[in-house]
Amino acid sequence: MIKFLDIKSINARFESDFKIEFDRFLNSGQYILGDTVADFENCFAQYCGVKYSIGVGNGLDALILIFKAYQELGRLNPGDEVLVPANTFIASIFAIIHADLVPVFVEPNPETFNIDPNEIEAAITWKTKAVLVVHLYGQLADMAAINAKAKTQNLLVIEDAAQAHGAVNANGLKAGDLGDAAGFSFYPGKNLGALGDGGAITTNDAELAKVLYQLRNYGTTSKYVNEHLGYNSRLDVIQAMFLKIKLKSLDADNAKRLAVAMYYEKHINNPKIKLPMFNEKGSHVFHQYVVTIENRDGFKSYLDHHDVETLIHYPIAPHQQKALDSYNFLSLPITETIHNSVISLPISPVLPQQHIETIVELINAY
Ligand SMILES: *Cc1c(COP(=O)(O)O)cnc(C)c1O
Repeated sequence: MIKFLDIKSINARFESDFKIEFDRFLNSGQYILGDTVADFENCFAQYCGVKYSIGVGNGLDALILIFKAYQELGRLNPGDEVLVPANTFIASIFAIIHADLVPVFVEPNPETFNIDPNEIEAAITWKTKAVLVVHLYGQLADMAAINAKAKTQNLLVIEDAAQAHGAVNANGLKAGDLGDAAGFSFYPGKNLGALGDGGAITTNDAELAKVLYQLRNYGTTSKYVNEHLGYNSRLDVIQAMFLKIKLKSLDADNAKRLAVAMYYEKHINNPKIKLPMFNEKGSHVFHQYVVTIENRDGFKSYLDHHDVETLIHYPIAPHQQKALDSYNFLSLPITETIHNSVISLPISPVLPQQHIETIVELINAY
């Protein structure tokens, strides 16, 4: 059986370091925030090339807290519209709604799966105040075009970087440093994954960072002094500790993912299957390797039958989910076609070469 993602093997590589650090944690007596969390926040900020990183409970909270912090600062107000790619993971949309804002679904570019900058203009109204850009599957969106458009309309640009840890653009800037603020998830399956839930926000904005450090911890400025209507969404100390260890291997792990993708690109040659487009080296960290095919279900059961596990990211478009029934009336043909035809192949830093070759052989024989 070729697993879609062997998380146990991914983490087994760090076992001895994890155990040493866990003992230190146990003896420290500091179980909420403190030096270990601050230490990881500094490392992650430095890695992303930003001034501030704020550790939070998960990726969804990271996005909600960014929107809430901008409301505390008077930069956003309830009811403001936020442009978002229609084909994203549901969390991007939920974050907007949970923060009392209104999502406006924008069609993606079918080649890159990322928000189409040319579709942005038509979606802007007098209520539009922000764009939530998603670097879907690990590939950076066209930030130069998006930032230029946002600037002319005075829109905030927020990155959903949950799938793009370490993705770097042609100028050497990383995901997390390409807009006004960014939300990351450390869900175990992400390129930088914890052994439980975790998330972070990155920004260069000192004022925003200050509000965020408070919002994640009951809006606290000093013990039992609450300046904002805050939340309890703190990055767990144990997860911060694991993440600091794993961060050192992120670039090497992303390079391994890229090598798998290059192998697929070079060796899969089945006209029924469309491979993902990627250009600049480093601007795609292959959180997922997503191909498109017309008869997806047949292809998936063929691979299942040959013991190759695949997943679909994502089977139902957000605007067609029951949870978002007030948006079910929307017609978004590009998004709907994507959701009906994408399928993700196994990719990871620990996928054995033999498995990669088996997958290619099976696909070419389909
Ligand atoms: C994983 C993910 C999130 C949410 O992360 P959680 O930590 O699971 O809350 C948000 N956006 C995208 C694009 C994701 O892939």
